[in-house]
Amino acid sequence: GIRTHHHVMRTEAQAIVHLAATVGVERIIQSPAETIENNVKGTEAVLQAALRYGCRTILASTSEVYGKGLKVPFCEDDDVLLGATVRKRWSYAASKMVDEFLGLAYHGEHDLPVTILRFFNTVGPRQTGQYGMVIPRFVGQALRGEPLTVYGDGQQSRCFCDVDDVVRAVHDLLDCPASIGKVLNVGSREEITIEELARKVKAVTHSKSPIRLIPYDEAYAPGFEDMQRRVPDTTRIQRLIGWRPTIPLARTLVRVRDHLKQEAGRL
Ligand code: UDP
Repeated sequence: GIRTHHHVMRTEAQAIVHLAATVGVERIIQSPAETIENNVKGTEAVLQAALRYGCRTILASTSEVYGKGLKVPFCEDDDVLLGATVRKRWSYAASKMVDEFLGLAYHGEHDLPVTILRFFNTVGPRQTGQYGMVIPRFVGQALRGEPLTVYGDGQQSRCFCDVDDVVRAVHDLLDCPASIGKVLNVGSREEITIEELARKVKAVTHSKSPIRLIPYDEAYAPGFEDMQRRVPDTTRIQRLIGWRPTIPLARTLVRVRDHLKQEAGRL
């Protein structure tokens, strides 16, 4: 607690949800040093503050830590398979793995009540497309009548989860002591290829934009490695708090479209 006069005051914070990080594949490839330093030092600072106040703490991690694993769906206790260190992309996964190790160590060595969440492609209104995130990127392109930039052959797939579902998971886990010291996947099981996503975005925006395939080497950097599929096993979080996503991708696309239309109208 904070000492003022002769009283010991309780801190105002009941919990810490640490979401801040350098994210987005394009950003990571441009600035790997910033990525590693922000993500590792930031989490270290948060954990030290949490320890001082004995705060319930949730740390954001990422499905990216499953790397190039081919066994889907991904389960929390699976081995991880990252690419070589010369491939800058994997610096993000490695930095988040250090965060996970650190959080689990603070729990194990100092009894700090930490839970680690591996988010799978969270999406919703107000997400920026600036650092590569594909849904705000495609919806923006479609509304402006520009080509939709599908990387690779577009057959890679993802499971997108609406931010409102994710916020509910975070909120409910704060009051779930059984989740302390655990790593949990948070994501949707609705899998879609990026090419199919581009077609859905065109339909929901009534856009005549062409779909343009761009080789990975051009989109990112020579030798770029993508994840082909990324599907979560969500049995663990479902058992703990009964959570499952309720908002289908079609609804999220409408939400993102309406937000970006409104934003364009304001400019
Ligand atoms: N992607 C794409 N065009 C874009 C941005 C992304 O085809 O303009 C692809 C990207 O290569 C990946 C998928 O969409 O296969 C999801 O990318 P995002 O950056 O949203 O998240 P990631 O799953 O890579 O973390």
